[in-house]
Amino acid sequence: MKNLAYIFVSLVLLFSCKPTTNKKETKYIKPAPRITVPQLNPDSAYNFVKQQVDFGPRVPNTRAHEKCADYLVKKLKSYNAEVIVQKATVKSFDNKSLNIKNIIGQYNPANKNRIILTSHWDSRPFSDHSEHPELRDNPILGANDGASGVGILLEIARLFKQNPPTIGVDIIFFDAEDYGSPDHKDLPYKPDAWCLGSQYWSKNKHRKNYSAKYGILLDMVGAPNAIFTREGFSMNYAPWLVDKVWGAGTKLGYSNFFDYTQTGSITDDHYYLNTIAQIPSIDIIQYDPTTETHFGAYWHTENDNMSNIDKYTLKAVGQTLLYIVYNEK
Ligand SMILES: [Zn+2]
Repeated sequence: MKNLAYIFVSLVLLFSCKPTTNKKETKYIKPAPRITVPQLNPDSAYNFVKQQVDFGPRVPNTRAHEKCADYLVKKLKSYNAEVIVQKATVKSFDNKSLNIKNIIGQYNPANKNRIILTSHWDSRPFSDHSEHPELRDNPILGANDGASGVGILLEIARLFKQNPPTIGVDIIFFDAEDYGSPDHKDLPYKPDAWCLGSQYWSKNKHRKNYSAKYGILLDMVGAPNAIFTREGFSMNYAPWLVDKVWGAGTKLGYSNFFDYTQTGSITDDHYYLNTIAQIPSIDIIQYDPTTETHFGAYWHTENDNMSNIDKYTLKAVGQTLLYIVYNEK
């Protein structure tokens, strides 16, 4: 045993003295890092929608609007976004001065490789599509029309804190999207009366020489059994992005939501991102084949409240966006 041990030690010494230049190189291929996409929590997203609705209608120049702005800024900051509040005064269709705030939560602001995720945070000052004429001058709660998209984006911000994205992301909450002329009054047509916040931002971006690869707008993304069709302007300006998002939704098992039918063009914030800001942008917006307007029956009525919000729809849309962000190179 003694001898064997001696031979073993000698062998070890012999090998360890071998000049390193003769060492055979082992080829090692580094595996691609596994992409972990965080899981959206539908209860949390729902709660973010509810908290906005609890302020009441978020109509510019009201106390509820101001309080909700403070809430959104506080939330984004708590999730490590670098926040810019862009204040402006814009003119409404009836020549009122509206004090608006576009709220921008930046992640990796120095990274030139960036995308925009956006939604409008104001709610409409009229229930002009209500069945009840006496209600039509009332503002709406906008649970789906406004708060749903913002709720999903706040949940995404929460997940960004836990799993910082590698690309740059700007979460932008546009103001005064829904202040267009009411349909229940016989007013002359006024162009560009909607999307006042995004029009302002597109002409006055929050940073000098700002650019982004693309933008994804969420509007009315929380109704039960919602269908999102391929909207006209999105298909005109960024069909490749529609393919990318609809493809991701389908891959994740949400093909009931992401429908490949192409439908009409809708003037929404993405229109101005495309035409003024020159950032290719699409709109994920509910299409309802059963109504005359092709918006949900709750649209611009007193029924756009929390009963109109389904956690599974929030999950489908939010999880699809998360897949896009974490797979973006
Ligand atoms: Zn609306």
